Amino acid sequence: MSELSADLMDILVCPNCRAQLALDVERDELVCVGACGLAYPIKDGIPVLIVSEGRKPEKLVAAEPEPEKEEEPTPKPSPDDEPTIAAPGLTEDGGELTISFS
Ligand SMILES: [Zn+2]
Repeated sequence: MSELSADLMDILVCPNCRAQLALDVERDELVCVGACGLAYPIKDGIPVLIVSEGRKPEKLVAAEPEPEKEEEPTPKPSPDDEPTIAAPGLTEDGGELTISFS
């Protein structure tokens, strides 16, 4: 959580498009309310108003494929769906499986 004074917020503008910045308290970011919509990180209470440090707008980020994020659970066939095959010689005894092919 960062707290920036209202005076500071008035002075700060987006270095990319000169629009005003809105404080995103949850993310600790200053979000450009203008055309570019970049979100600038606040590090140790100091806003980093560098275009290259700015985070791209959500829309553009969402448009790109994001691997390893909220993957849909792949439906795996449960053993119950498989046909039950009686396996003589396969016994479960005390948690140990004993398989004999005799
Ligand atoms: Zn901007």
